[in-house]
Amino acid sequence: MRIVLVGPPGAGKGTQAARLAERLDAPHISTGDIFRENMKNETELGKEAQRYVDAGDLVPDEVTVKMVKDRLAQPDAQEGFLLDGFPRNTAQADELQKVLGDLGQRLDAVLVFEVEDEELIKRLMARGRSDDTEETIRHRQEVYRSETEPLIAHYQDIAVRVDAVGTIDEITDRAMDALADEPDD
Ligand code: AMP
Repeated sequence: MRIVLVGPPGAGKGTQAARLAERLDAPHISTGDIFRENMKNETELGKEAQRYVDAGDLVPDEVTVKMVKDRLAQPDAQEGFLLDGFPRNTAQADELQKVLGDLGQRLDAVLVFEVEDEELIKRLMARGRSDDTEETIRHRQEVYRSETEPLIAHYQDIAVRVDAVGTIDEITDRAMDALADEPDD
Protein backbone atom coordinates (compact mmCIF):
# COMPACT_ATOMS: atom_id res chain seq x y z
CA MET A 1 0.00 0.00 0.00
CA ARG A 2 1.05 3.57 -0.61
CA ILE A 3 0.13 5.62 2.38
CA VAL A 4 0.70 9.18 3.57
CA LEU A 5 0.46 10.14 7.23
CA VAL A 6 -0.64 13.63 8.14
CA GLY A 7 -0.93 15.11 11.59
CA PRO A 8 0.21 18.03 13.72
CA PRO A 9 3.62 17.90 15.42
CA GLY A 10 3.27 15.70 18.48
CA ALA A 11 0.40 13.59 17.14
CA GLY A 12 2.55 10.47 17.37
CA LYS A 13 2.83 10.06 13.61
CA GLY A 14 6.41 8.82 13.75
CA THR A 15 5.65 6.17 16.38
CA GLN A 16 2.60 4.98 14.52
CA ALA A 17 4.30 5.08 11.13
CA ALA A 18 7.03 2.74 12.38
CA ARG A 19 4.45 0.30 13.75
CA LEU A 20 2.21 0.44 10.68
CA ALA A 21 5.23 -0.04 8.42
CA GLU A 22 6.04 -3.23 10.26
CA ARG A 23 2.48 -4.54 10.07
CA LEU A 24 2.17 -3.67 6.39
CA ASP A 25 5.72 -4.75 5.54
CA ALA A 26 6.44 -1.46 3.80
CA PRO A 27 9.29 1.01 4.40
CA HIS A 28 8.72 3.89 6.80
CA ILE A 29 9.94 7.02 5.07
CA SER A 30 10.19 9.97 7.43
CA THR A 31 11.48 13.19 5.89
CA GLY A 32 12.16 14.60 9.38
CA ASP A 33 14.29 11.53 10.21
CA ILE A 34 16.19 11.84 6.94
CA PHE A 35 16.90 15.51 7.63
CA ARG A 36 18.02 14.77 11.20
CA GLU A 37 20.28 11.95 10.06
CA ASN A 38 21.88 14.24 7.48
CA MET A 39 22.28 17.02 10.05
CA LYS A 40 23.96 14.62 12.45
CA ASN A 41 26.38 13.47 9.76
CA GLU A 42 26.93 17.05 8.60
CA THR A 43 26.23 16.24 4.95
CA GLU A 44 25.56 18.99 2.41
CA LEU A 45 21.85 18.23 2.63
CA GLY A 46 22.04 18.39 6.42
CA LYS A 47 23.78 21.76 6.34
CA GLU A 48 21.17 23.07 3.92
CA ALA A 49 18.27 21.87 6.06
CA GLN A 50 19.60 22.77 9.52
CA ARG A 51 18.44 26.36 9.89
CA TYR A 52 14.94 25.55 8.69
CA VAL A 53 14.57 22.55 10.95
CA ASP A 54 15.93 24.50 13.94
CA ALA A 55 13.49 27.34 13.29
CA GLY A 56 10.53 24.99 12.77
CA ASP A 57 10.15 26.16 9.19
CA LEU A 58 9.67 23.94 6.19
CA VAL A 59 12.83 23.10 4.30
CA PRO A 60 12.41 24.52 0.76
CA ASP A 61 10.30 22.29 -1.49
CA GLU A 62 13.05 21.94 -4.07
CA VAL A 63 15.40 20.33 -1.56
CA THR A 64 12.74 18.19 0.06
CA VAL A 65 11.13 16.95 -3.14
CA LYS A 66 14.46 15.88 -4.60
CA MET A 67 15.28 13.98 -1.43
CA VAL A 68 11.92 12.17 -1.48
CA LYS A 69 12.19 11.34 -5.18
CA ASP A 70 15.58 9.73 -4.54
CA ARG A 71 14.18 7.77 -1.62
CA LEU A 72 11.11 6.57 -3.53
CA ALA A 73 13.36 5.32 -6.33
CA GLN A 74 15.00 2.82 -3.95
CA PRO A 75 14.10 -0.84 -4.51
CA ASP A 76 12.38 -1.28 -1.15
CA ALA A 77 9.79 1.40 -1.95
CA GLN A 78 8.56 -0.07 -5.22
CA GLU A 79 5.68 -2.10 -3.79
CA GLY A 80 4.53 0.43 -1.25
CA PHE A 81 5.56 2.84 1.49
CA LEU A 82 4.44 4.89 4.45
CA LEU A 83 5.34 8.51 3.97
CA ASP A 84 5.63 10.26 7.34
CA GLY A 85 5.95 14.06 7.12
CA PHE A 86 5.70 14.36 3.36
CA PRO A 87 3.91 15.99 1.64
CA ARG A 88 3.69 18.99 3.97
CA ASN A 89 1.96 21.37 1.56
CA THR A 90 -0.08 21.14 -1.63
CA ALA A 91 2.91 21.92 -3.90
CA GLN A 92 4.69 18.86 -2.48
CA ALA A 93 1.50 16.84 -2.93
CA ASP A 94 1.39 17.81 -6.59
CA GLU A 95 5.02 16.78 -7.02
CA LEU A 96 4.32 13.46 -5.37
CA GLN A 97 1.37 12.87 -7.64
CA LYS A 98 3.58 13.51 -10.66
CA VAL A 99 6.27 11.12 -9.47
CA LEU A 100 3.74 8.37 -8.78
CA GLY A 101 1.77 9.09 -11.95
CA ASP A 102 4.89 8.65 -14.07
CA LEU A 103 5.23 5.18 -12.56
CA GLY A 104 1.55 4.37 -13.04
CA GLN A 105 1.06 4.41 -9.29
CA ARG A 106 -1.14 6.33 -6.90
CA LEU A 107 -1.72 6.75 -3.19
CA ASP A 108 -4.10 4.34 -1.51
CA ALA A 109 -4.87 6.34 1.60
CA VAL A 110 -4.00 9.40 3.65
CA LEU A 111 -4.24 8.83 7.39
CA VAL A 112 -4.97 11.99 9.33
CA PHE A 113 -4.00 11.79 13.00
CA GLU A 114 -6.09 14.03 15.20
CA VAL A 115 -5.14 15.38 18.64
CA GLU A 116 -6.17 18.62 20.38
CA ASP A 117 -3.66 21.49 20.65
CA GLU A 118 -3.31 21.47 24.45
CA GLU A 119 -2.47 17.78 24.49
CA LEU A 120 0.04 18.30 21.68
CA ILE A 121 2.02 20.96 23.54
CA LYS A 122 2.11 18.75 26.65
CA ARG A 123 3.45 15.80 24.64
CA LEU A 124 6.03 17.86 22.77
CA MET A 125 7.40 19.56 25.87
CA ALA A 126 7.95 16.08 27.33
CA ARG A 127 9.82 14.87 24.23
CA GLY A 128 12.82 17.24 24.46
CA ARG A 129 14.09 17.17 20.87
CA SER A 130 16.38 20.13 19.96
CA ASP A 131 13.57 21.73 17.94
CA ASP A 132 11.10 21.21 20.80
CA THR A 133 11.31 24.56 22.60
CA GLU A 134 7.91 26.09 23.33
CA GLU A 135 8.42 28.87 20.79
CA THR A 136 9.44 26.49 18.01
CA ILE A 137 6.61 24.12 18.87
CA ARG A 138 4.08 26.93 18.51
CA HIS A 139 5.65 27.96 15.24
CA ARG A 140 5.57 24.39 13.90
CA GLN A 141 1.89 24.20 14.84
CA GLU A 142 1.21 27.41 12.89
CA VAL A 143 3.08 26.03 9.90
CA TYR A 144 1.00 22.86 10.18
CA ARG A 145 -2.29 24.80 10.26
CA SER A 146 -1.45 27.07 7.37
CA GLU A 147 0.60 24.79 5.09
CA THR A 148 -0.19 21.19 5.88
CA GLU A 149 -3.81 21.09 7.07
CA PRO A 150 -5.11 22.12 3.63
CA LEU A 151 -3.88 18.71 2.47
CA ILE A 152 -6.85 17.10 4.23
CA ALA A 153 -9.22 18.82 1.79
CA HIS A 154 -6.80 18.23 -1.07
CA TYR A 155 -6.91 14.49 -0.36
CA GLN A 156 -10.58 14.37 0.64
CA ASP A 157 -11.32 11.28 -1.45
CA ILE A 158 -8.70 9.13 0.24
CA ALA A 159 -8.29 10.86 3.63
CA VAL A 160 -9.31 8.89 6.71
CA ARG A 161 -9.27 10.37 10.18
CA VAL A 162 -7.75 8.56 13.13
CA ASP A 163 -8.38 9.61 16.72
CA ALA A 164 -4.80 9.75 17.99
CA VAL A 165 -5.56 9.95 21.71
CA GLY A 166 -5.23 6.66 23.57
CA THR A 167 -2.60 3.99 24.08
CA ILE A 168 -0.08 3.35 21.34
CA ASP A 169 -1.67 -0.05 20.62
CA GLU A 170 -5.18 1.38 20.45
CA ILE A 171 -4.12 4.00 17.95
CA THR A 172 -2.28 1.47 15.76
CA ASP A 173 -5.40 -0.72 15.75
CA ARG A 174 -7.59 2.25 14.82
CA ALA A 175 -5.24 3.16 11.97
CA MET A 176 -5.23 -0.45 10.69
CA ASP A 177 -9.05 -0.52 10.89
CA ALA A 178 -9.23 2.77 9.01
CA LEU A 179 -7.03 1.33 6.25
CA ALA A 180 -9.11 -1.84 6.05
CA ASP A 181 -12.30 0.24 5.68
CA GLU A 182 -10.84 2.30 2.88
CA PRO A 183 -12.33 1.08 -0.42
CA ASP A 184 -9.90 0.26 -3.22
CA ASP A 185 -11.04 3.13 -5.38
P1 AMP B 1 9.19 16.08 11.61
O1 AMP B 1 10.15 15.10 12.19
O2 AMP B 1 8.27 15.50 10.57
O3 AMP B 1 8.45 16.87 12.65
O4 AMP B 1 10.07 17.16 10.81
C1 AMP B 1 11.02 17.96 11.47
C2 AMP B 1 11.41 19.14 10.59
O5 AMP B 1 11.95 18.67 9.35
C3 AMP B 1 10.26 20.05 10.18
O6 AMP B 1 9.94 21.02 11.18
C4 AMP B 1 10.83 20.70 8.91
O7 AMP B 1 11.78 21.69 9.24
C5 AMP B 1 11.57 19.52 8.27
N1 AMP B 1 10.68 18.77 7.37
C6 AMP B 1 10.24 17.48 7.53
N2 AMP B 1 9.47 17.10 6.50
C7 AMP B 1 9.41 18.18 5.66
C8 AMP B 1 8.76 18.42 4.42
N3 AMP B 1 7.97 17.51 3.83
N4 AMP B 1 8.93 19.65 3.85
C9 AMP B 1 9.72 20.58 4.40
N5 AMP B 1 10.33 20.42 5.58
C10 AMP B 1 10.19 19.23 6.20
